Amino acid sequence: MSTGGGGGGGGGSSSGGGGTPASLVQLLTTDLVAITRGRSMASDDETIWGKQGVGWVPANMALDPFNAIATPNPWGSSGDLRLMPDMSTDLTIPEIPNRPGLHIVLCDLTELDGTAWSCCPREFLRTALADLNQAGLRMLATFEHEFTLMDGKAAPAPAFSLVAHRRREPFLSLLYAMLRVARVEPETILPEFGAHQYEVSSSAVRGLPAADRAVILREVTREMADAYGYSVSFSPKPTPDGAGNGVHIHFSLRDAANQPTMYDPARPGGLSEAAGAFAAGILRHMPALCAIAAPSPVSYLRLVPQSWSAAYACLGERNREAALRICNAPASAGDDARGYNLEYRVTDATANPYLALGALIRAGLAGLRDRLPTPPLVNGDPAALSEQERTRLGVTRLPTSLAASLQALAADTEVRGWFPAPMLQTMLSVKAREAALAGSLTAEELCRRYAAVY
Ligand code: GLU
Ligand code: MG
Repeated sequence: MSTGGGGGGGGGSSSGGGGTPASLVQLLTTDLVAITRGRSMASDDETIWGKQGVGWVPANMALDPFNAIATPNPWGSSGDLRLMPDMSTDLTIPEIPNRPGLHIVLCDLTELDGTAWSCCPREFLRTALADLNQAGLRMLATFEHEFTLMDGKAAPAPAFSLVAHRRREPFLSLLYAMLRVARVEPETILPEFGAHQYEVSSSAVRGLPAADRAVILREVTREMADAYGYSVSFSPKPTPDGAGNGVHIHFSLRDAANQPTMYDPARPGGLSEAAGAFAAGILRHMPALCAIAAPSPVSYLRLVPQSWSAAYACLGERNREAALRICNAPASAGDDARGYNLEYRVTDATANPYLALGALIRAGLAGLRDRLPTPPLVNGDPAALSEQERTRLGVTRLPTSLAASLQALAADTEVRGWFPAPMLQTMLSVKAREAALAGSLTAEELCRRYAAVY
């Protein structure tokens, strides 16, 4: 395929001629099915790609995870876009044996005149953040990732064990180092509960970079795993019987003066009135949010009771069965409010991080607008409550299939209204294809196919 994909090329010839070996820069976007795609140019042509970006095709946004273009979509074979680099994301992972350095720049999707394209996921988050700003708030967030890392040989080591960690050295140390180079600011890297399961957490950051870091973390991990001959999968359920891989979004709110606003030690769970309303908005819209945050058929093999994922829409304090969990992280410098955050446990790696975070913000804002009361705290296993108790506490079971979450989205006019019409239509087309797969494949086959992509 040509660089331009039908005339939208870089717009110039390489300036790095004269026999100089070209190193490449990858200009990237992450689409509705959370796959990061893009095009490369000679990195020393920055005067060209830095200014004009590179061509892109609108119908690429209608790709499902298995390379079919879903219909209907608004574009078909028509149209041209640009992948416009956001130079603040420019990063290079140094070369390692058998791999050249990885130079990547995350991009916005724009029309040819440089205006934002209606379906650009980064723009979706940017506008949600701008509206949050309008409400006098800022968000700090981070995506905590679980993944499965296998070499096809070794039997699983015990959960959380030193052996499970050391068996994956020097990979884990090098991954940590490379994530630092990539400015992801990794915090903890650990063997998790599941067989061959690992987790990386990173420090919270304000605004758009939180979602950028999720993309970078996944891609750098894939790159490093590939270089080391491991197969890695972030799929929410790599096998029907194994542990699920969650992507937990931790977030906290700050006011315009950058002071924490979520913590009030006098209130239940220490949740301030504003944070309570924000949380209530998220819970109110959570069934529809599942279509964005848990948007694949395998997501629903993960979201089952008693698996520490998030089967019930409820708020819990340090409760890993609650979809929204109050976390009292150790205070930095003795300041409880700064360590205090909420964890949204619904998300997985089949979700686009920009859409998942943007929709979370919009749901929270709706709760603030409607001054919703703080939800009751559910501190035990919601599955163990009687139906009556669940009703009293407003605890609902989340959708149990992609088809059901798409129905919840169809029924939630407010959530649908957050998405530009072409984006919503395309998302529904893509997700209908994926939901249909669930009906035609066994759980084993479904898990296998998603694990191969994610
Ligand atoms: N693996 C669990 C999930 O699917 C999360 C376990 C935990 O870290 O609490 O979300
Ligand atoms: Mg975990």
